Amino acid sequence: MSFDVQAIRAQFPILSQQVDGKPLVYLDNAATTQKPQAVIDALMSFYTQTNANVHRGAHKLSDEATRRYEKARDQVTSFINANSREEVIWTAGTTESINMVAHGLTKQLEAGDEVVVTEMEHHANLVTWQQACIQSGATLRVAPIFDNGELDIETFQSYLGPNTRMVAFPHVSNALGTVNPVKELVQMAKRYGALVLVDGAQGIAHGGVDVQDLGCDFYAFSGHKLFGPTGIGVLWGRKSILADWPVWLTGGEMIADVTYQTATWGNLPNRLEAGTPHIAGAIGLGAAVEWFSGLDLAAVQAHEKSLIDAAMKQAQDIEGMRLIGTAANKVGILSFVMDNAHPADVGFILDRQGVAIRTGDNCAQPLMNRLGINGTARASFSLYNTLDEVDAFFVALRKAQSMLA
Ligand code: PMP
Repeated sequence: MSFDVQAIRAQFPILSQQVDGKPLVYLDNAATTQKPQAVIDALMSFYTQTNANVHRGAHKLSDEATRRYEKARDQVTSFINANSREEVIWTAGTTESINMVAHGLTKQLEAGDEVVVTEMEHHANLVTWQQACIQSGATLRVAPIFDNGELDIETFQSYLGPNTRMVAFPHVSNALGTVNPVKELVQMAKRYGALVLVDGAQGIAHGGVDVQDLGCDFYAFSGHKLFGPTGIGVLWGRKSILADWPVWLTGGEMIADVTYQTATWGNLPNRLEAGTPHIAGAIGLGAAVEWFSGLDLAAVQAHEKSLIDAAMKQAQDIEGMRLIGTAANKVGILSFVMDNAHPADVGFILDRQGVAIRTGDNCAQPLMNRLGINGTARASFSLYNTLDEVDAFFVALRKAQSMLA
């Protein structure tokens, strides 16, 4: 198999549009990815042919909706190589997945316990643990990064010890693009028997996540960053842990027996999935996983590397452009600040030229403070971006620079 970027682009209807008369150059993929026709068709087909609630109907539509919905769980199970489908819990997204784990852990933590995160966390994987610590009396330890955005692994390791109960870190940093050595970090944490959660929001779309191989206990991700719909995500967790994890939401679907005074919980995965789920979302995510799995992963990764390498190289020629995040192992994300120009102004001028990027604190205020900046402009690449679009980005950036000089 090879990689034909134009053939890929043709499957994303949104990419062929013009913005203010200019071809759309969509470089905000770390915020959310666009959706291929296969995903749009799966959603359309669900709503036009078989919309019904799942698991409870005594009719054909409900049976078919349930079949498609549970098939999506199987697709995700094999995509991440989970041990069983019971380990794949549908959530609203990465944020909810992390909160589900933190909610359960808060009940188990006590003063003297420690939770270790890193300086490069998205708020979803920082505030959640920070609040768990505040509520339980546990201590939050924040492992430092170097100025280039790489984790200081030696210090990270020195923060681990017999009191460490949870270690949580991103697979890939949304603000810096840094790829963390997940397996190595997991092994360090496991020496002390700590639980490990990997925030996979940015890692999942770059392919090849094998949760058993990673060795972590929880892996959280969002469908919308993997070419799927918004409002659906996954918490993968080890069955032995999730089977007893304190329930997060109570209500329909998650119970075994109920009396007016008591209730018992059902089995995984339903015990952690109260209420009517995002049925169409799960089916759409299943379609996204199937679509993505059909690609030549090595070719996708090589293409994405060519994009970020080209962008990093061209950035060197732009005077006054400072890259934020230059780790050796980096993927998909070009965060930067410009001398004498606010990121929001840069973003505004790029937008007028059809180039969509993100500006601001990247949901990582403490990281921005750590780096001594207020925020960045961020171009983030996906598999459907082209080298021509990298060029178009730099043409637009030079224009922004001259206008803001
Ligand atoms: N963690 C990281 C590293 C992210 O990039 C994001 C999304 N920007 C999240 C967590 C939160 O994901 P969501 O908003 O889909 O829940």
